[in-house]
Amino acid sequence: MSDKTGRVFAIANRKGGVGKTTTAITLAHGLAKKVQAQNGRVLIIDFDPQGNVTASLNLQPREFDLADLLLDRCTFKDCVVSANRASDGYARPNLFILPSADSLAEAKSELMIKAAIGGRRSVAVEDILAHKLGFVRQLFDYTVIDCPPTLDAFSDAVYNLADEAIVPVKTDFLGEVGTVRHTSDILAAQSYGIDIKIACILPTFFDQRLTIARSVLEALVTHYGKSSVATPIPRSTIFEQAPAVDGQTIFEYQPDSTPARAYQSLVDRIYAS
Ligand code: ADP
Ligand code: MG
Repeated sequence: MSDKTGRVFAIANRKGGVGKTTTAITLAHGLAKKVQAQNGRVLIIDFDPQGNVTASLNLQPREFDLADLLLDRCTFKDCVVSANRASDGYARPNLFILPSADSLAEAKSELMIKAAIGGRRSVAVEDILAHKLGFVRQLFDYTVIDCPPTLDAFSDAVYNLADEAIVPVKTDFLGEVGTVRHTSDILAAQSYGIDIKIACILPTFFDQRLTIARSVLEALVTHYGKSSVATPIPRSTIFEQAPAVDGQTIFEYQPDSTPARAYQSLVDRIYAS
């Protein structure tokens, strides 16, 4: 093991369809390109089996996955997938995925039951995740976690594993901004003593022409402060097209597009911070 002290980011928002998985994959790929020259490494941990990061990147799943790791059925090395293995020539030599499958739900219940029998349930699940995954900091410059959508002791344990959260917020509904709903899970976790910071709010599905989108952006800036709100990611059909074409990321599919530039700005922000 090296003496790296990598950073761990959670892409978090309880709502589905706000761009979490897209952000996890795109940010991780962008960071992997950044660290390529130093031969650094970036890991995506897929805590949301429905997001299916492995399939989005057109990678072959392996025999073991995150659930097996958490339940002591395999080692980290047995389940991590190199994104360089894509069959179609899209080499991402510095990017790795810790995939999950439907079995994660089962593993999660099993861990929660084990922890509950032990008494202090969320603490124990946290300890298991810290024990099984905490060392990623020594192996990877950046770890990006695609978070589970549900809210329970398990999500808290995932937040506990991370250093910072990036919160994608879909800019189509003003009503939610003032209620802090998007960051309430993280604020609650913080109030239990979980040490996670909010790196930034990431406005997604942004359509400059729509009054609602501009209003949501303005409200986010007012609510969270200008410096906490990242460059908005435009609404674009290329986000659905890119993974469908041989599992490309938008940096491969349309690197000069406005959406790719917006995500590059997030990559630069995180890299520089
Ligand atoms: P989540 O992980 O929060 O559920 P996803 O990243 O899976 O959200 O995105 C949901 C869907 O919206 C996917 O089909 C994705 O391709 C698409 N999508 C993501 N970001 C954008 C965007 N900025 N503009 C248009 N479509 C997007
Ligand atoms: Mg997702």
